[in-house]
Amino acid sequence: MRIAVLALQGAFIEHIQLLQSMGVEAFEVRQLGDWQQPHDGLILPGGESTVQMRLLRSLGLLEPIRQAISDGLPVFGTCAGMILLSRGYLDTMQAQVLRNAYGRQLGSFHTVGKVEGIGNDIPMTFIRAPYFDSLLSSDCQPLATIDGHVVAAQQGHQLATAFHPELDNDARMHQYFLQIVLSHCSQDSSAAS
Ligand code: GLN
Repeated sequence: MRIAVLALQGAFIEHIQLLQSMGVEAFEVRQLGDWQQPHDGLILPGGESTVQMRLLRSLGLLEPIRQAISDGLPVFGTCAGMILLSRGYLDTMQAQVLRNAYGRQLGSFHTVGKVEGIGNDIPMTFIRAPYFDSLLSSDCQPLATIDGHVVAAQQGHQLATAFHPELDNDARMHQYFLQIVLSHCSQDSSAAS
């Protein structure tokens, strides 16, 4: 299994290190040539969504990535990565986000919460985070709610969190994502046989 990690800006190294500590091969995507390497899943890290969108466009990565996700590539977006998946950005998740939803300056905090299907007491580090202000399709399901706001959701092969699981010493969110990737790989091989 090989996971592509978008590495234009933001907290990508932490994702790569966490995946490697789990024995999973991960590589950085900085340009189109990187993206063309074989991969089974994609992580869109936190950072600054406006900067990431601009770089994706100028590097010619926006459309190939959008198309791959639309075609079923498993993707995990954290914070700015969650914004990228949403309406008005890559637009692959049927969901609307509110950026900097907790305020710009004092909007960073840490809590623990339950994530549906994953577990209780999941550490959640929020850094100038968004939340989902509406899920626009029943295909897009909330997985976690903090103070009445949806901070994690899943739409089929797409997983998104407003928090940064790569910054805490808990691999359960990544393990969950890798299960999505594995089940996608096995669907592909049964379709090919
Ligand atoms: N505030 C950032 C944005 O709007 C997201 C912050 C983050 O990824 N930690 O893109």
